[in-house]
Amino acid sequence: MTDVIVIGGGPAGMAAAIESAKNGASTILIERNKELGGILNQCIHNGFGLHYFNEELTGPEFAKRLEKEVKKYKNITVLLNTFVVSIKSGEVVVQNQEGKKKLKTRSIVFATGAREKTPASITLTGTRPEGVLTAGVAQKMVNVYGRLPGKNVVILGSGDIGLIMARRLTYERAKVKAILEINPATSGLRRNILQCVEDYNIPLFYKHTVFEVVGKDRIEGIYYGQVDSNYNPILSTRKFLKCDCLILSVGLVPETDLLPEMKLMRATSGGEVDEYLMTNIPGIFTCGNVLHIHDLVDNVCLESADAGKFASLYAKGKLNTTQPIKVSAGQGVSYVVPAVAYAGEGKFTAKFRLKSKVTKTNVVAKSNGNVLGKKFLLAGVPGEMLTLEVDKSLAKDEIVLEVET
Ligand SMILES: Cc1cc2nc3c(=O)[nH]c(=O)nc-3n(C[C@H](O)[C@H](O)[C@H](O)COP(=O)(O)OP(=O)(O)OC[C@H]3O[C@@H](n4cnc5c(N)ncnc54)[C@H](O)[C@@H]3O)c2cc1C
Repeated sequence: MTDVIVIGGGPAGMAAAIESAKNGASTILIERNKELGGILNQCIHNGFGLHYFNEELTGPEFAKRLEKEVKKYKNITVLLNTFVVSIKSGEVVVQNQEGKKKLKTRSIVFATGAREKTPASITLTGTRPEGVLTAGVAQKMVNVYGRLPGKNVVILGSGDIGLIMARRLTYERAKVKAILEINPATSGLRRNILQCVEDYNIPLFYKHTVFEVVGKDRIEGIYYGQVDSNYNPILSTRKFLKCDCLILSVGLVPETDLLPEMKLMRATSGGEVDEYLMTNIPGIFTCGNVLHIHDLVDNVCLESADAGKFASLYAKGKLNTTQPIKVSAGQGVSYVVPAVAYAGEGKFTAKFRLKSKVTKTNVVAKSNGNVLGKKFLLAGVPGEMLTLEVDKSLAKDEIVLEVET
């Protein structure tokens, strides 16, 4: 019997395993790939680690630092090339070259990351030719296999992955003809708009989308144009743009399929957790991109270290889960993690995102008129994950996080 099994060897899983081991728990870290690191292994740009390591690193550098740390702990067993096929409280079933095996455990950290939305998950009309691919696949082609997905590229979506790929393809001498964003603003970080788009004069069209994909075997171009406030195409704006590659960067979805019994949060599609990051299934904790899509890997690691710590405390029977209090998103806040706190002394960190852009305003956590935490935002955008320390000692009833008017 192991104390803690961590599923997923990305940054979330590694940070959770390290903290669990630091707390003296016997820990197994399971990864389906041949190496640890998760999505970081294909992110060769820098911009990782400024908060966690106080240094600017590339994705693989960040992953290697964590891996080195994992290896320091004798109480962590790493299983690579091992696929988790099912999970229930106290048991994880794995499949690898040695066959199928049941592993017994006191607690589990579920850290399987996220997958990209595909053409099938959005309404992309027209033909289905070669040359239409997701940004993560394009990134792997370029950064891992040294293959260019196309020479004249259109990117749909201006999230961080799309922006980073626009710059990466420009470095590789592809022409990024346009980035089309259906919303009036990007969900990406401001620094990525500056460093990946504006620095290279790449055209970025807001309130625009692809109307139709054209091409028989290979993509030959797209019809695109503006959308109205209900996201309906304005057909009078329809134009043709020649391209040999269309890259979709239209969002990530938490990879929760392994745990169908887990209660999900509508706003994030990740698990609904308490302040210990425990799901509705006792002893199963979750963190990282499978919990909610993060902007920075640094935040992933901080959150996941907490999940590892709490999972190890649970394994030792040391978590107090009495007197739950609901935590919810109020005015101007699109979601808040956790959904439940426990009455008593102390603080917890609420992670949240804004519904829309704000300037010079406070975000407050309140319960029965008592202010439990307050943060001044000089400027805030929905793409950025924000945190607020909440003092729960004065909380009697529901805790609501809201933007002050
Ligand atoms: C293209 C791109 C660019 C990014 N750029 C930046 C940036 O510049 N700066 C920054 O700070 N952050 C950046 N990020 C974000 C950061 O990389 C992610 O937030 C972080 O990697 C998420 O960590 P994770 O461990 O939750 O998920 P992942 O890294 O996806 O790891 C999940 C792991 O779980 C494993 N797994 C899944 N299912 C199973 C199973 N059944 N059995 C065993 N193993 C399983 C997967 O193989 C994977 O290794 C970027 C992300 C992407 C995709």
